[in-house]
Amino acid sequence: MSHIYETIILGGGPAGLSAALYAGRGKLDTLLIEKATYGGQVATTYEVDNYPGTDLGITGPELSDKMRKQAEHFNTKFTKEDIVSVDFSDTIKKIVTNKGEYLTKTVIIATGAQPKMVGFKGEIELRGRGVSYCATCDADFYTDLPIAVIGGGDSALQEALYLTKFASKVTIIHRRQGFRAAQYLVDKTKANPKIEFLLDTVVEEAMEENGLLTGLKVKNVITEEVSDFPVDGVFVFVGYEPISEIFKGKVNMNAFGEIITDVYMKTDVPGVFAAGDIRETTIRQVITAAADGAVAAISCEKYLEEME
Ligand code: NAP
Repeated sequence: MSHIYETIILGGGPAGLSAALYAGRGKLDTLLIEKATYGGQVATTYEVDNYPGTDLGITGPELSDKMRKQAEHFNTKFTKEDIVSVDFSDTIKKIVTNKGEYLTKTVIIATGAQPKMVGFKGEIELRGRGVSYCATCDADFYTDLPIAVIGGGDSALQEALYLTKFASKVTIIHRRQGFRAAQYLVDKTKANPKIEFLLDTVVEEAMEENGLLTGLKVKNVITEEVSDFPVDGVFVFVGYEPISEIFKGKVNMNAFGEIITDVYMKTDVPGVFAAGDIRETTIRQVITAAADGAVAAISCEKYLEEME
């Protein structure tokens, strides 16, 4: 008979790694499955200075590595595999990957979310080197420097307002005249002397020198005129997408594909928990994901105790 784990954690970002630490310390027989890089979104962040207890200047990959090693110390097993499908219909749940099948009594879904990309040339290459998707993570690096924000929704305008506390000037680049954002945010950004607007405009390309962003090639969609726009940083806020496709129809989600949990990180399926950015939540930070992971692992322990 196949081995049955007590807990399988899907995803190795801060939520998954923190769940692995707590499950390991709770002596649960635990496996964490990650498809790519441990750390998830934080692994793509150049520096993290808002996670307590870490050295200032710690890089995203260094923090991710520390989290993984700490969890490994408590005997959680790690494997790098692609999750192909899940079956939560029974008490014993099944996880199918590109390499095999795993059985488990509990599951913690921590596959996270990814910021939507715009698709301009150089967006991937300059990520963490001038292109950012997280204002609270990276704003400080642009103190007294001019930056741009792409997007016209609540996130773009709200984050643009936050960024004015750091940058010398924030230019909101939006592809049309109208905003998707709430009117109060539109009014607030328009009233802010540090914010300027570049409307009916799309970003076509990032300009760089020595691997760092120096500006953007922008196009006016009405006149088709292309011009150079010098900035030290660009923050992209054109929406987020939870990485939840394979869980559709298996657990309860909202219209955005975010998994709905209670405060114990329980989903609507007994024995299945969710933590971090995959969850329907308002704040998406390393610290909140890590907290979710801890809560989910403790909830697994309780569920397993009740099972016996
Ligand atoms: P969003 O509402 O989907 O807005 C995305 C924005 O990015 C839109 O203005 C869109 O332009 C633009 N965009 C999309 N793809 C683009 C592309 N390829 N190139 C250029 N621009 C592009 O996303 P969000 O602002 O992240 O908000 C997501 C959800 O969270 C929303 O329901 C929002 O209300 C909510 N939220 C609420 C708050 C709050 O209540 N304070 C804060 C943040 C987020 P178009 O408008 O032209 O389509």
